[in-house]
Amino acid sequence: MAKKKKGPRQPVGLKCSVCGAFGYITQFNKTNERLKKQTTGKTTFPLKKYCNRCRKATKFKTAKKLK
Ligand SMILES: [Zn+2]
Repeated sequence: MAKKKKGPRQPVGLKCSVCGAFGYITQFNKTNERLKKQTTGKTTFPLKKYCNRCRKATKFKTAKKLK
């Protein structure tokens, strides 16, 4: 399957915090995230995304490892 890449860009799954539906797969830069935390004290998560199951925009949290 896909090669496991090492680096700051990590693929993450996004899960709806309301219904728990697995919604999106995205990548985010861990280094970037850390910098953001340091400078603004905020992270990019949870994200507001459209959930197909809830049929509205909900907060999405990062899910654990992708298969
Ligand atoms: Zn949902």
